[in-house]
Amino acid sequence: MAKTVSPGVLALRKVVEDVYADARTAKAEGKLVGWSSSKFPCELAEAFDLNVMYPENQAAGIAANRDGEIMCKAAEDLGFDNDICGYARISLAYAAGKRASRKLDLETGEYVIDPTSGKPLKDENGNVVIDPETGKPKKDPKTMQPYTVIDDIHEIEALPEGREKELRKAAIKPYRQMQMPQPDFVLCCNNICNCMTKWYENIARMCNIPLIMIDIPYNNTVEVADTNVAYIRSQFDAAIKQLEELTGKKFDEKKFEHACANANRTAQNWLKVCDYLQYKPAPMSGFDLFNHMADVVTARGKTEAADAFELLEQDLEENIKNGTSTLPFPEQYRVMFEGIPCWPKLPNLFKPLKENGVNVTAVVYAPAFGFVYNNMDEMVRAYCKAPNSVCIEQGVDWREGICKANKVDGVLVHYNRSCKPWSGYMAEMQRRFTADLGIPCAGFDGDQADPRNFNEAQYMTRVQGLVEAMEANKTLKEGEDK
Ligand code: SF4
Repeated sequence: MAKTVSPGVLALRKVVEDVYADARTAKAEGKLVGWSSSKFPCELAEAFDLNVMYPENQAAGIAANRDGEIMCKAAEDLGFDNDICGYARISLAYAAGKRASRKLDLETGEYVIDPTSGKPLKDENGNVVIDPETGKPKKDPKTMQPYTVIDDIHEIEALPEGREKELRKAAIKPYRQMQMPQPDFVLCCNNICNCMTKWYENIARMCNIPLIMIDIPYNNTVEVADTNVAYIRSQFDAAIKQLEELTGKKFDEKKFEHACANANRTAQNWLKVCDYLQYKPAPMSGFDLFNHMADVVTARGKTEAADAFELLEQDLEENIKNGTSTLPFPEQYRVMFEGIPCWPKLPNLFKPLKENGVNVTAVVYAPAFGFVYNNMDEMVRAYCKAPNSVCIEQGVDWREGICKANKVDGVLVHYNRSCKPWSGYMAEMQRRFTADLGIPCAGFDGDQADPRNFNEAQYMTRVQGLVEAMEANKTLKEGEDK
């Protein structure tokens, strides 16, 4: 039976599709399209009606579509080190014009099918059909895919009009993240990390386009100093000036206020959605929360996004009333997932969790997109509170708060090779909050975008260990309660 999709999820899918489609149309009409880091104050660009795309989301989508590795390798071939964040490598390869494409036979115009791809062929009784010659399962031809190769959009554009040009254009993978328009300007805010600064400088240099930069200093204290607020506010003013020069338009205060209202409404609804994971059992799978993060990033300043998140919040309220959940198995254990998921390996991440009844009911990364504020100074302070830009005291406090509120039995930490700032301080962070909370924690090595850095066997063992420790804790607690 086909999975029913709730009105909120459908509305969010449409919002994101529309943002990508509008950017493609804008580009075709010769209008400006920008690329922005995910925690740049989107309200500024909204005030100028600019079409803006988000390379981090794009990279996550490319990785989830299994093209992360080939794009990372394309960046490495351009000279970028393989230790650089996988999102940055994918984005830099894309900015340089590299595209994951289906391999073509130019003579026939057909795609060249990879014989190892596809699912096993099953007979009418659902049994796998074995090839008598090889003794191995036969592949279902309907599910087989062409080889993936790297093509170059600039080479394609330079071809004379004709058959080859059309075929190579059409061979570029058709999903939206591989069809994102090239940038005319970039908006960068380093509240996420400092890799972002170099990544965007490189895009600006490669594409010869303006870079609008907002520098947010790392917060060594829990409170954001007034001098930092003044420093950042002055950069908002400079960014507005640069946007005025870029667009030839005056800053529209009304549009800015409208975007701020939308962004606040989206954030408030998003935070409510995150809070629904506090219910026991949770009305949704934590993996759904991961997926919706992309929606917050892509469109949080738009009315449609605020409306769609309101709908999603209502869907979850309904789930609570009806005792239903998007989690496809009974919830036995609840964990906090620390870090960004391994997008190319989502099914592998999910499998042992499902087998052991583990739901992710807390994610530090998700509420970090809930920027709520009432005025400009509060807006600046809100943008200072990103996971990698706050001190360890604040980080421990956030994690302990969310673990308690969302009633977790354990913690699963992704030591993400791509994300050095996050993984670097995690060992100490993990030591502190698990000691305070008295809950078990297991770490595994992986990568958000480059599948070469994920070891499934290690992950399975770590999840198994965590489940055993959570079980032992439960038994101990039940004994104490008797
Ligand atoms: S925060 Fe981590 S994942 Fe995000 S861009 Fe920086 S290094 Fe990459």
